[in-house]
Amino acid sequence: MPVKFRDYYETLGVPRDASESQIKQAYRKLARKFHPDVNPGDKAAEERFKEINEANEVLSDPEKRRRYDELGADWKAGMDFTPPPPPPGGQTVRMHVGDLGDLFTGGERFSDFFDVLFGNRRPDGAGFAFSARGADVESEVSITLEQAHRGTSRAVTIPLEGPCPACGGSGTKDKKTCSVCGGSGSQTRLESFTVNIPRGVQDGSVIRVPGRGGMGLGGGPRGDLYLRIHIQPHERFRLRDDGHLELELPIAPWEAVLGGEVRVPTLDGPVEMRIPPNSQGGQILRLRSKGLAQPGGGRSDLYVRLKIVVPPKPTDKEVELLKKLAAESGFNPRESWNSGGR
Ligand SMILES: [Zn+2]
Repeated sequence: MPVKFRDYYETLGVPRDASESQIKQAYRKLARKFHPDVNPGDKAAEERFKEINEANEVLSDPEKRRRYDELGADWKAGMDFTPPPPPPGGQTVRMHVGDLGDLFTGGERFSDFFDVLFGNRRPDGAGFAFSARGADVESEVSITLEQAHRGTSRAVTIPLEGPCPACGGSGTKDKKTCSVCGGSGSQTRLESFTVNIPRGVQDGSVIRVPGRGGMGLGGGPRGDLYLRIHIQPHERFRLRDDGHLELELPIAPWEAVLGGEVRVPTLDGPVEMRIPPNSQGGQILRLRSKGLAQPGGGRSDLYVRLKIVVPPKPTDKEVELLKKLAAESGFNPRESWNSGGR
């Protein structure tokens, strides 16, 4: 629904190119004349006084006046007026609330026209603030397995689009295209802050950081930031899809046959593990609750995969003993193949 256009120049009785002091003078003169104290109980005078103040509110403020003047001179007071949509990313002129409102017992301080023009209200309904929440932003942060295990805090930097500080979002400065933003009225700056990443965070999980998203419009709140967690590959531990850790443990052939105690690294330092006699290469042993910290507390398991390795440079003595073993042993690892291997 359109609102009625108000000619503020006509209200103050000044030409469109009036200087600041001309406007000031005209306003003072009219305000004195129609002030409620001078006209007690006179509704018409009070109405006129409101109009005068509204006109002054706009014309005495260079930014508001510029915005008003952009509507063009073709408008006549009382004409139906539908405002242009607010510029994307543009800044809404904030209403200056003076002590003027105290003079009136009830009703609106400014006209619908004023509210619509300066973005305090939607044109189609009373009482709705013209504001919009900023967009939600997604970003990724990469952390080590140790950081996921213990929790960490990370400096996060995101590009943030906001009104250009040089021109206040209008795109023009001193009646010329703003040189800082090139007339777009918006500028992207980098914002850095610290985010706490809780212990036990999982790969691919998303942390919501309230109020760190895109800028709101018309005083609307900022959106939220959603941080997707990526856990970097570890040189030693492999994070399995089921959340457990896996580790490849090299052992000597005689450790596999005879069994024994070995030290196994975990994210919280080494632990002792018993290798049972007659273990095979590729066999997996489970260390319960020695894996990764979990979101709800506790730990996942650590799976230890045995890998049998031989001495890369055996000594003469070792070679001699192995030759003896080869001659003595009747073991054929390919026996089950029957024919074929040997
Ligand atoms: Zn600018």
